[in-house]
Amino acid sequence: MRCFEHREREAIGVCRACGRGACERCVVAGGEFACSDACRAQLDEAAATRARELALMVRSEHLLERANNNRGITRALYVGLGGVIAAPTLLLALLHLLGGDLFAALPMLGLALPGILMIRFGLTVTRGRV
Ligand SMILES: [Zn+2]
Ligand SMILES: [Zn+2]
Repeated sequence: MRCFEHREREAIGVCRACGRGACERCVVAGGEFACSDACRAQLDEAAATRARELALMVRSEHLLERANNNRGITRALYVGLGGVIAAPTLLLALLHLLGGDLFAALPMLGLALPGILMIRFGLTVTRGRV
């Protein structure tokens, strides 16, 4: 292939912007192979756009990750708090039931219910990724 500007010279590469052959005298130093300053600028602009898009993508990945972390915290909070409420009241209810005292056990079960609901909420509402 011959240089587009200098027909008598052999091209050392093809411009990535316009596709023309360029000799070593025409080629513009920089990133991708360019035959002129205009093509150099065009390629640099495209590279900058790609870099911006990549940075944007990375940032939205981070935001998604943070949202998922927040979900994890919400879940741990509800399940933990629910457990703190439900565990002792359920234990007391069980002790009363074992002692044959059903009427003492019922209010304990009533107290345990919000705790159980909190655990359920923590597990269902925060399930899955964004
Ligand atoms: Zn070019
Ligand atoms: Zn040339």
